[in-house]
Amino acid sequence: MNLTDLQALEERYLMRTYKRAPVEFVRGEGALLWDAEGKEYLDFLGGISVCSVGHCNPTVVEAVREQASRLMHTSNLFYTEPMVRLAERLSESSLGGRVFFANSGTEANECAIKIARKHAHRGGIEAPEIVSFDGDFHGRTYGALAATPKLAADSDLGPMLPGFRSVPFDDAAALREVVGENTAAVLIEPIQGESGIYPLGDETLLAAREACDEAGALLILDEIQAGMGRTGSLWAYQQTPVRPDVLTSAKTLGGGMPIGACLTTPEIGEVLEPGDHGSTFAGGPVACAAALAVLEIVDDPALLRRVRELGAVLRDGLLALDGVREVRGRGLMLGVGLEAGIDAAAVGAELLENGLIVNVPEPGTLRLLPPLTVESDQVERALGAIGSALLSYAAT
Ligand SMILES: *Cc1c(COP(=O)(O)O)cnc(C)c1O
Repeated sequence: MNLTDLQALEERYLMRTYKRAPVEFVRGEGALLWDAEGKEYLDFLGGISVCSVGHCNPTVVEAVREQASRLMHTSNLFYTEPMVRLAERLSESSLGGRVFFANSGTEANECAIKIARKHAHRGGIEAPEIVSFDGDFHGRTYGALAATPKLAADSDLGPMLPGFRSVPFDDAAALREVVGENTAAVLIEPIQGESGIYPLGDETLLAAREACDEAGALLILDEIQAGMGRTGSLWAYQQTPVRPDVLTSAKTLGGGMPIGACLTTPEIGEVLEPGDHGSTFAGGPVACAAALAVLEIVDDPALLRRVRELGAVLRDGLLALDGVREVRGRGLMLGVGLEAGIDAAAVGAELLENGLIVNVPEPGTLRLLPPLTVESDQVERALGAIGSALLSYAAT
């Protein structure tokens, strides 16, 4: 079957929810992908921050193969070892409380929203509110969607879940203003990913922490994109002055297998009780075995140092290019703001044509999320490709 056949079948059978680039990938290794024609691509999108240990990382492949050939699923009515070992590892590396497993990022956030609402009701709040920033992305199920202001504005999908509000991005004063007696939680991304890589200032994070403490509300950090080593520490909050009450993870966590997790402090881990939440697939042995293998690679001071070093090389290299206005983000999570008049979508398409995969989250921004295991010469190669693509646009 060639690309034209695939496109015809997609057009006939798949819902039109995605806009795909005209490429069929058939194989991956490390930071490289190959299409059906055998053309090689350097992947600086990494499956949207999922393939952070590289495509088909041998340690992850072996863990999945081994577990899949022994036991794939039993349900949450029984015990399996990978699940409890993964929970221990995630808790001990973060907030020290309990873990709930999910199958995706949006589901990890649903768990966090349930915790926030129940915690608020226990504190006597009748109509709890959850506050986020404009531009935040928390997922596409109805709870997470309601906390994603841009998408929640789509009235065709309404009515939206009540009890959510948003304030202008990175506006500490506005946040302080709305967080009050009805606030159950502040649910935010420490670095906005989908909207184009916009980090929150430390002062704003501190303001959020303080406002939550004063109101008895929970600070929930969505690290689905920024966590798991992406910024050069295992969790993004570890490079900020705040510690959340609840942390959500997904994307990189499974290294390509679908898994999400909601992590808590010891106190908040007690909020959900039997019957409050559940999932048939979640915490399954194959996904958890994959995640344990990913953590083995990512939760390593040497790798994390490399992420910070290569991130600095990439940032400096980008800033030196004609056509680059600014570089936002941390570690290997970078948004490249292009000079006015440069069509980022056209640059992205040209890069793809030239064998470099990047993402264009908004007009004027290239988003780079390479595997954390990317090699230095691959970083140089990407810089070269972006430099020459920009050259033809910056001049015009
Ligand atoms: C991708 C993402 C989500 C949603 O995760 P899914 O697995 O697509 O449901 C939520 N929050 C952030 C910050 C994300 O980047």
